[in-house]
Amino acid sequence: MIIQLQQGIPDQLLEVILQEVKGIGFKANEVKTQEAHYIVGIGKKDFDIRTLGQLPGVADIHRVSDEYKLISRKWRVNPTLIDLGDGVVIGEGNFSIMAGPCSIESERQIELVVEHLKANEVKVMRGGVFKPRSSPYAFRGLGIDGLKMFHRICRENGIKIITEVMQVSQIEDMVDYVDVFQVGARNSQNFNLLDALGEAQKPVLLKRGISGTLEELLQAAEYIFSNGNEKIMLCERGIRSYENAYRNVLDLNAVPVLKAKTHLPVIVDPSHGIGLRDHVEPMSLAAVMAGADGVIYETHQKPEEAFSDGQQTVNFQESERLIRRMRQAFELRESF
Ligand code: PEP
Ligand code: MN
Repeated sequence: MIIQLQQGIPDQLLEVILQEVKGIGFKANEVKTQEAHYIVGIGKKDFDIRTLGQLPGVADIHRVSDEYKLISRKWRVNPTLIDLGDGVVIGEGNFSIMAGPCSIESERQIELVVEHLKANEVKVMRGGVFKPRSSPYAFRGLGIDGLKMFHRICRENGIKIITEVMQVSQIEDMVDYVDVFQVGARNSQNFNLLDALGEAQKPVLLKRGISGTLEELLQAAEYIFSNGNEKIMLCERGIRSYENAYRNVLDLNAVPVLKAKTHLPVIVDPSHGIGLRDHVEPMSLAAVMAGADGVIYETHQKPEEAFSDGQQTVNFQESERLIRRMRQAFELRESF
């Protein structure tokens, strides 16, 4: 059960509601986010919802049978919109394109990508400065100095930043320089990181784990929300299978299924999803048609020279065509 409390509820009224919830045999979890104040009641007992609903201080109450509660569409029917400022809003009704290199490599590289994004009216640049790599000898990113440079150039050009955070201790150093924190597939169930991002108050793009189920992804998002941060988007980035003709299996089934289960925006990452640059475009277009609220993909001025993930990175010419076609596909989808 979820109880949304009235704004600024006095402590005595809150205490009465908490006691009532406990009285019917439920565990009462208090959740305060940047948007509202809730009690999430966990329990199985049957009860008359009206006894709680009529208490002073209760704004709204719902039974939610899913394991995840606050991110469920059973609780909130209206889709969540994430406002990054300057007119950049992510969520249903908009189609958000986020693009950039796998890794931030140099000042020149950032400038070239920014120029390409601006020419195509793309408002969000991706790029990792802390890179999770399979080999400890591979390039692991420019770190916080790279992020500061990334931030300076993007700010000068009106571009928002999405970049991966790998551990709790990085959040404090990064928070002033990011617009969206990315949680990578390898950290999708790093619950300490999710807890901390709940308190960080900046929007989070949460990737599905390498072998993660949708239920696990949704529960991971519930960690962030229940720690105080409602600004979450989910990202399908492919799951591991026995097939090795491509890097991962981009699970586009996840898009309509997630959108039915949660009010959070759903973004697709075709670059990691298929791992082959020649096939990023058809999978991106398929993602649009499947109902994605946005696509995040890798582009670089010279993909063959990229420090990481070059094999799945498109060049600027390909990127330009991809952007144009995704927008056409989105218009077509909206016209149905
Ligand atoms: C990335 O976005 O470059 C990345 C490492 O993604 P993932 O966590 O999906 O592998
Ligand atoms: Mn990558």
